[in-house]
Amino acid sequence: MTATIIDGKGIARAVREQVARDAAELAARLGRPPGLAVVRVGEDPASKIYVSNKRRAAQQAGVQSWEHALPEDTPQAELLELVQKLNEAPEVDGILVQLPLPPALDEAEVLASVSPDKDVDGFHPLNVGRLWEGVPGMVPCTPAGIMELVRHAGISPEGKRAVVIGRSNIVGKPVAALLLAAHATVTICHSRTRELPAVCREADILVAAAGRPRLVRGEWIRPGAVVIDVGVNRLPDGTIAGDVDFESASRVAGHITPVPGGVGPMTIAMLLANTVKAARWRASRPVRQ
Ligand code: NAD
Repeated sequence: MTATIIDGKGIARAVREQVARDAAELAARLGRPPGLAVVRVGEDPASKIYVSNKRRAAQQAGVQSWEHALPEDTPQAELLELVQKLNEAPEVDGILVQLPLPPALDEAEVLASVSPDKDVDGFHPLNVGRLWEGVPGMVPCTPAGIMELVRHAGISPEGKRAVVIGRSNIVGKPVAALLLAAHATVTICHSRTRELPAVCREADILVAAAGRPRLVRGEWIRPGAVVIDVGVNRLPDGTIAGDVDFESASRVAGHITPVPGGVGPMTIAMLLANTVKAARWRASRPVRQ
């Protein structure tokens, strides 16, 4: 193996420690801790685990959290009403609607109903627009975490070739926007991209977010490249595999993230960082509360 491992767990710990210091400072200044409201609809077991992990991390960092668990058959209007209440609640700095919502609900309408100032997931169309405009706003957590990992690898994206595999609104597109804002030359690949291995071989920074176990092999990687593996794929034997074949890739890459222990831990850390950011942002504009 030649690649340096990017320690997502350690970097996420450092982010959470910084959040804890910021949360304590805010609590002293505002007379209350930063607050995160999580909305969950239905009984999806994975969503339940994600939400409880997020709340535990919040508690450890001194961020107050509330969970609003609604039944599977909640009407759209009722969900929108709850979001509106949370938008107006002064003690709530961040609102997260856990996805996916049950199929009967209109996800886009719900995400657009969250106040952009409290949109700690960064999925509101206004924040998406801000991201592509390159102006400050709420940035989605996983992509923000990926940029932290690249920064910690000591690599400046400026002038580099970045290739992103995946064009989802949650990972692929926002991470491409962030790399572009950091002055990389960015290529976004997807399931219909031709000659994917050849495109990947041009990358100084390669982000794999396709949701395909071990798609990216060592031969696809430019020697010395930074490889960020976003994939979390459950294999039939119950183990988790990334989108990158770590074995072969780590012999060619300069830096590489493991799965687990790479991107995964960063997502929750950045959610907490966004909650503190939202609390600061709101505290600096008291007239809008
Ligand atoms: P998605 O299914 O919404 O999007 C996948 C994208 O990959 C699509 O744009 C598709 O066109 C592209 N793609 C699929 N197969 C491809 C192929 N063979 N070649 C090229 N492109 C291909 O998934 P998502 O929500 O963006 O998530 C991607 C992966 O990242 C999943 O494994 C998911 O579990 C993981 N993920 C991890 C975290 C984390 O915190 N670690 C967060 C979000 C997503």
